[in-house]
Amino acid sequence: MEPVTGSCLCGGVRFEVTEPFRRASYCHCSRCRKHSGTFGLTQGRVPREGFRLLDGEELIRVYRPEGGMAKAFCSVCGSSLFGGTWPDGPEVSIRFGALDDEPGIRPQYHSHTASAAGWDSIPDDGLPRHTGAAPTA
Ligand SMILES: [Zn+2]
Ligand SMILES: [Zn+2]
Repeated sequence: MEPVTGSCLCGGVRFEVTEPFRRASYCHCSRCRKHSGTFGLTQGRVPREGFRLLDGEELIRVYRPEGGMAKAFCSVCGSSLFGGTWPDGPEVSIRFGALDDEPGIRPQYHSHTASAAGWDSIPDDGLPRHTGAAPTA
């Protein structure tokens, strides 16, 4: 497949994905909401070997909220980039907002819908909704 490229807002961090995304989802939890400034996040998972950081490793900072997954972001522009068990683990969680190309997958479920903000109207898109963490998240 053609690599799927991504970058932060300032362009300091650049990466590419060379294997298909395994799954993708929306998270409506309060931690992702605070971190993103919007409803939560949209992310996809790729196997570690299908991910390559091309530039800007020194710009990436990681915040680990109590009880939550890592939030990796660019220290210059604040773009939310990676999550899950960053920088370790068998998979990389990539924020879809950081992608510059078509990921070739669509979000498959909503997680943490019980924590969604009152103003967050979860669309009637037919996708499964998990009140907490999805089994595959
Ligand atoms: Zn940046
Ligand atoms: Zn979340």
